Amino acid sequence: MKKVAVVTGGNRGIGFGIVKGLCQKYDGAVYLTARDVGRGQAAVAELQKLGLKPNFHQLDVDDQTSIDKFRDYLKEKYVGLDVLVNNVGIAYKHDATEPFGEQAENTIKTNYFSLLNVCHALFPLLRPHARVVNLSSSMGHLLKIPGEELRGRLADPNLTEETLGALMLEFVEAAKRGDHTKLGWGNSAYAVSKVGVSALSFIQQRAFDKDPREDLVVNAVHPGYVDTEMTSHKGPLTIEQGAEAPVYLALLPPGVKSPRGEYVWCNKEITDWVKGPTPSEY
Ligand code: NAP
Repeated sequence: MKKVAVVTGGNRGIGFGIVKGLCQKYDGAVYLTARDVGRGQAAVAELQKLGLKPNFHQLDVDDQTSIDKFRDYLKEKYVGLDVLVNNVGIAYKHDATEPFGEQAENTIKTNYFSLLNVCHALFPLLRPHARVVNLSSSMGHLLKIPGEELRGRLADPNLTEETLGALMLEFVEAAKRGDHTKLGWGNSAYAVSKVGVSALSFIQQRAFDKDPREDLVVNAVHPGYVDTEMTSHKGPLTIEQGAEAPVYLALLPPGVKSPRGEYVWCNKEITDWVKGPTPSEY
């Protein structure tokens, strides 16, 4: 059976770089997915000009119908899935005028809950030796949460998806009331969402370790500070450089002992998520 890899939000930025890297290195079908068919197909055409052969499918991670359609398509065409890169992420700009509560709600929705919805739909398709990569961030390090008590709850080794989801919603409610800083969440909705993605990855690996399917591996990754629209093109790394660690994690060999369920820095170093230090600032 032909192997298949999927990247969410592949039409531009780091996701596009990851699709490019996988097309060059992966022995299987590579799916560039995008919420907008026109933008997705234009990205595919750009890669075709380089002699690469990505496949395309529409996928809006905020839309459950779109997720379900894509799941059904993969099931029908490939029966399973071998690589899933959850790349989609959003970040409000510093000068955004939307109320903070609204920013928090939308950021947690896309970066945390939509990623989780994709996992819930596609994890049943994962085949033995499948690799999952969740795009976190340097902002997804636990120490970005100032409150010690909150950090303790997020780092609990018995944390479940349900408890973590409830914590994410607790933050959104606090952001709407305006007491999120007082409660120890800090003032970045993006950081909370990415801390959620990191914590979720550890929970997912614990579930994978008990799964009857052999050798399922998931890691959270900080891709580096990359020149994309998200950073208003301020990051020094190219999208190809930003894709390096995610592609490395997507292609971890069968039976790999480490990294498994780790928080991995852009230089591929496994980083202590609870205590740090991080290999670099960004
Ligand atoms: P970006 O340039 O803003 O690109 C984001 C991509 O996600 C676009 O393709 C966008 O598609 C897509 N997207 C957004 N919402 C979507 C949805 N609901 N459904 C499907 N696709 C959706 O971001 P980036 O800088 O490449 O970042 C990629 C990932 O790396 C994110 O998770 C980000 O948080 C993380 N990250 C980035 C940096 C950095 O320095 N850039 C650092 C740390 C972590 P459209 O074109 O349709 O909007």
